[in-house]
Amino acid sequence: MATDPTPPESISPTVPSWRAEGLVFNAFGAALRRRYGGRVQRISIDAGFTCPNVDGAVARGGCNFCDNRSFSPSRRVRLKRVADQLTDGIRTVRKRYDKVTGFLAYFQPATNTYAPVEQLREIYELALSHGPEIRGLAVGTRPDCVPDSVLELFEMLAADHDVSVEFGMQTMHNDGLVWMNRAHDHGHQVNAIDRARGRGFECGVHIILGIPGETHEMMMQTADEVAALGFDSVKIHNLYVVEGTPLADQVRAGTLNLMDRETYVQTVVDFLQRLPPEMIVERVSGEAPKGFLVEPAWCLDKSRLLREIESEFRRRGTVQGSHYRPPTVSPHSRPRPQDNTPESIRQQIEQRGRLPVLKMN
Ligand code: SF4
Repeated sequence: MATDPTPPESISPTVPSWRAEGLVFNAFGAALRRRYGGRVQRISIDAGFTCPNVDGAVARGGCNFCDNRSFSPSRRVRLKRVADQLTDGIRTVRKRYDKVTGFLAYFQPATNTYAPVEQLREIYELALSHGPEIRGLAVGTRPDCVPDSVLELFEMLAADHDVSVEFGMQTMHNDGLVWMNRAHDHGHQVNAIDRARGRGFECGVHIILGIPGETHEMMMQTADEVAALGFDSVKIHNLYVVEGTPLADQVRAGTLNLMDRETYVQTVVDFLQRLPPEMIVERVSGEAPKGFLVEPAWCLDKSRLLREIESEFRRRGTVQGSHYRPPTVSPHSRPRPQDNTPESIRQQIEQRGRLPVLKMN
């Protein structure tokens, strides 16, 4: 990553270590190297979860950007056992990189907390016990699908392992959440992070920029909200469109306007400037699989995008956190609220029982 030749003086009372390394934001890869003393890679696992926004617990159809055709219990592709996915993923990464210090088991597709808590425990423990090179667990989920019992499980696992939970917040604006058919509102995200914080595991957040109807000011409000809620890490990308989604139809009908690259670069830099310097930035671009991306083509060139984001920081003479203003109430002083997980999600988990598609060992 490029260096920042003109670091602002007043970014933070103590210069964070990423600044000392010449970075312009607290990049994930460098943060992992600092923590583990070498390269650590995530291994993505599809454990066969579905989603309450697909199976009818809160809605059907799923988010308009999500290709969730594979989430049904009778999957199109037969799932490999979790242990095999880890073994194969580790082998592939080792072929690609000479020196890898360890791996994180990353439960990525669908809603990876959407099962009875005993079954979640079995599957997470299976991944963590796969071998000494598994350094920890990362779990992607929806903010309305983390009942206290699941947070207590993560807390227990975090006593001995690195655990991070990634919440799909996307935006703080409910109009945008409705447009996406998220079928939860921002109140669920606030409730989830206020119950999850301070339990010994990391809390990450996923954000989409360029949601139709959202102005620059609204996106900056989301940045301030991410900062105020005290997440440990953030993933940011532009709204992009993949095959098999309602958005793909809108693009083909000419009814969807997507953010252009220049606007995205400006917006993401503005966004990062407002985040606290210690927040880890896991991603600043999308992960659209080649051959499945419909629009915009520019987001496939992640290296160029990263270079342009770094250049924009250098041009401005700013870094992540340059415009951060600490909230009046520290995230750690926020009270832990009552669990507001929707009753329909709890009932679905209880009535369905163990997920038959989870291939464990
Ligand atoms: S909540 Fe996540 S998994 Fe479910 S439909 Fe939306 S993006 Fe897909």
